[in-house]
Amino acid sequence: MKFIDEFRNKEKAKKIVRAIENISTKEIKLMEVCGGHTMSIQKFGIPSLLPPQIELLSGPGCPVCVTDRKYIDQAIAYARLDNVIITTFGDLIRVPGSSSSLDNEKAKGRSIKIVYSILDALKIAKENPTKKVIFLAIGFETTVPGTAAGVITAAKENVDNFYVFSSHKVMPPAMNALIDEGVKINGYIGPGHVSTITGTGIYSGLAENFNVGCVISGFEPLDLLQSIYMLVKQFEEKNPKVEIQYKRAVKVEGNIKAKEMMYDVFEYRDDWWRGLGTLANSGLGISKKYAKFDAERKFDVEVEKTKEDKGCICGEILKGLKSPKDCSLFANVCDPSNPVGACMVSNEGACHAFYKYNRE
Ligand code: SF4
Ligand code: SF4
Repeated sequence: MKFIDEFRNKEKAKKIVRAIENISTKEIKLMEVCGGHTMSIQKFGIPSLLPPQIELLSGPGCPVCVTDRKYIDQAIAYARLDNVIITTFGDLIRVPGSSSSLDNEKAKGRSIKIVYSILDALKIAKENPTKKVIFLAIGFETTVPGTAAGVITAAKENVDNFYVFSSHKVMPPAMNALIDEGVKINGYIGPGHVSTITGTGIYSGLAENFNVGCVISGFEPLDLLQSIYMLVKQFEEKNPKVEIQYKRAVKVEGNIKAKEMMYDVFEYRDDWWRGLGTLANSGLGISKKYAKFDAERKFDVEVEKTKEDKGCICGEILKGLKSPKDCSLFANVCDPSNPVGACMVSNEGACHAFYKYNRE
């Protein structure tokens, strides 16, 4: 199949659904850990096509959603320093911190600029040599190589007023932690873009240690249905393994060049995830080699004590334990124009996707 339309063909979708019905005999819970998948699943009404014994859960797949309040609070503390320009992706600016948000700080006159890439941030640094420019780096393995490339460029060009505040995270520890915590998951719909970079090796522990399969999926409805078919088949045959459905983009070995850049600039560290708490080696901090670009090493700020909103159940939603519709604030107090929690901010957040496509 070459064109998008072919991946949305109704007749083919019906065929795959029938094939799923034919092989599925037992209750099964499948989790997607990619915000792009959450969006597609809701947009195309995939759950309503499946037999009732197949349940789809949304996991910690949206980079904005898993970024903790402490990070936002620290970014706000940086924004309040003199002569600092914060550069950030648009979604992050609206995520509530403990008592403010970057959006509020911008309205109060702090210098906060929305950028589309780290290279935009670097450009701002070069154009403002008397200021210190901090780039807020979030996202999983998909976006890490881009940040790494920006830092390498800053080093080559000797930009000495440019810093990165990293909240980059890696997927496998969160996928393992959910199963360890006892969340019932029989198979993972593996993240497409992350796997383009990492390849499939990072998921091998799932089958070996937890008996849980993983199928790396594309983003179109037929991709997702086919991935669900593959996972149900693995489960019914008691043969959990790592498979690639998204073969047009993902290779077993991933993108070797991107991985080299990633490990040149970053090193593993423990990191805090919304809903999951601290997970060993699940985050990426700037390596010693590039220490001079590390905002955390450069700026010493006092960060307010983290306060969570009462009533917001983002943490439970990110663990697949609750659905956005279980939240008493959903679609009344909390909506995309007034997000109470991170899951309502980003397009890829479960609450946002439910609000947009599945509110009734
Ligand atoms: S960046 Fe891509 S792979 Fe990662 S969560 Fe978003 S859509 Fe999924
Ligand atoms: S609906 Fe809003 S308040 Fe409720 S869990 Fe989602 S983001 Fe949090």
